[in-house]
Amino acid sequence: MAAVVMDGRALAAKIKEEVRLRVERMEHKPGMAVVLVGDNPAALAYESGKQRDCQQCGIYYDTFRLPESTTQQELLEVIGVLNDREDIDGILLLVPLPGHLDQRAAVMAIRPDKDVDCVHPVNMGDLMLGVDSFQPCTPAGVIRLLDEYHIDPAGKRCVMVGRSNIVGKPQAVLLLKRNGTVTVCHTKTRDLAGECRQADILVSAAGRAGLITADMVKEGAVVIDVSINRDAQGRLRGDVDYAAAAEKAGYITPVPGGIGPVTRSILMENTLTAALRHGKK
Ligand code: NAP
Repeated sequence: MAAVVMDGRALAAKIKEEVRLRVERMEHKPGMAVVLVGDNPAALAYESGKQRDCQQCGIYYDTFRLPESTTQQELLEVIGVLNDREDIDGILLLVPLPGHLDQRAAVMAIRPDKDVDCVHPVNMGDLMLGVDSFQPCTPAGVIRLLDEYHIDPAGKRCVMVGRSNIVGKPQAVLLLKRNGTVTVCHTKTRDLAGECRQADILVSAAGRAGLITADMVKEGAVVIDVSINRDAQGRLRGDVDYAAAAEKAGYITPVPGGIGPVTRSILMENTLTAALRHGKK
């Protein structure tokens, strides 16, 4: 039986509309600033996507495109100014930064209450401790999509492929928080296929097209593909062999149209949350 396709675009539209309706009633609008150093085309495209999302939600948007030659001191000064600006509730620093800049120091300079991307160690630490803080956008998006389809991770075997700081690790924590029994796989995992075959919920964020084949998917499993890869023709693909896996899974996310749009909508929600915490009404 073919899997239910989990529609990330529809959920993202719903989340953004909820944010828009809440923002519409606010006298002082939430604001987001994106800081971009250099002219990496992927980062530029990402930045214009954020601008569109903010426009759709009624969130004030400002962007700082700094030249490749920006010094650490100059970058920290920009972040410092944004930390102090009352019209800015969320700061998004696009990474990776050019090699001469200290990324950790730059991230540490962002005020945690404006860290809507949830990359600051204080927010990551709160996440680990179960303290309510910002939700890391992609892992939180995965949980929201599961909720949308009434899939409860509690008691289920959840296998996370990937252990990066932005996806794999926080995803494992969020699945654990929802009472899943979580296994985290990586390049040193001895039997990836065997681990995946155990999964009731399989989340892949390896960034390797074709890594997850249908024989690694348990009959009826929920398959969430976070990855965004490009094939030889330049088309977007996830990690999962989608057509074959969809014949076996119970639920599956497409790429594109799965987790990507939900991630973007969670960023808007986090910016609204930050504004409300800053006392904006
Ligand atoms: P990353 O930092 O490169 O991490 C990839 C992880 O996958 C690593 O932990 C790596 O293991 C593991 N891995 C790689 N190849 C593997 C293999 N053959 N077997 C088992 N594990 C393997 O990537 P990331 O930043 O987490 O991003 C992952 C993917 O998600 C990328 O395609 C990215 O574009 C996408 N992404 C999508 C969204 C979204 O909104 N949809 C957001 C963020 C990222 P090791 O630790 O052992 O190296």
